[in-house]
Amino acid sequence: MNATPNNVDATEIAKFDALASRWWDPAGEFRPLHKINPLRLDYIRQRATLSGSRVVDIGCGGGILTESMAALGASVTGIDMAEGPLAVARLHQAESGTNVEYLQSTAEDLASKRPGQFDVVTCLEMLEHVPSPPAVIAACAELLRPGGNMFFSTINRNPKSFLFAIIGAEYVLRLLPAGTHEYEKFIRPSELERWSRHCGLQLKSSIGLHYNPLTREYSLGENIDVNYLMHFQRPDDA
Ligand code: SAH
Repeated sequence: MNATPNNVDATEIAKFDALASRWWDPAGEFRPLHKINPLRLDYIRQRATLSGSRVVDIGCGGGILTESMAALGASVTGIDMAEGPLAVARLHQAESGTNVEYLQSTAEDLASKRPGQFDVVTCLEMLEHVPSPPAVIAACAELLRPGGNMFFSTINRNPKSFLFAIIGAEYVLRLLPAGTHEYEKFIRPSELERWSRHCGLQLKSSIGLHYNPLTREYSLGENIDVNYLMHFQRPDDA
């Protein structure tokens, strides 16, 4: 086996590998990703042209978001470091008839090979699983062409997010397997904005992603205390 690259947590990758076969079960461990996908896809397509665009999805897993962007006419590359989810993603696209280029790669490695080659970069629910989020953000910025659009999503770090995203989601409501997330790895919006700004990205908008335990439905809204998405743009070259 190859050595694990620096900015990859082998324990995290093993967690996703172990659950790979469950990825496309809408009632399984990845149910939340299936439920939120239409919402986040809408957020992205309202802010960036997908049809005809070159898109890279960083930490694509089994390809839920990846395929949905390809279905809208984008030319999509999906990268992940976990082999199991990538294998499932490849099988699934063969069945669904979408066309995604899936690669086992880190963002940093792809950025060194294809800098400036993407109109849109998405990196959703991934930053909270890597040792150094700023290094991934820098690679994402490098992958974007000038004027390109960047989308991140992650989980805020505060007492409320500990209660909702870990205690609530993993232990009380059991929306996610216990141990999916570590509180210390959560990222404040101010940190995500600052790290992105240092890479030349400009914040365009942010939005919260909320779960209602009574209706069991997700929705987008202003409050970014727990789960949130951010849209950045790489400015056009002067
Ligand atoms: N972005 C997808 C999947 C999120 S789960 C979605 O939102 O639907 C997080 C994914 O990030 C997992 O598939 C995991 O294998 C991947 N991942 C974790 N660390 C990574 C790294 N350093 N490089 C690439 N992928 C990574």
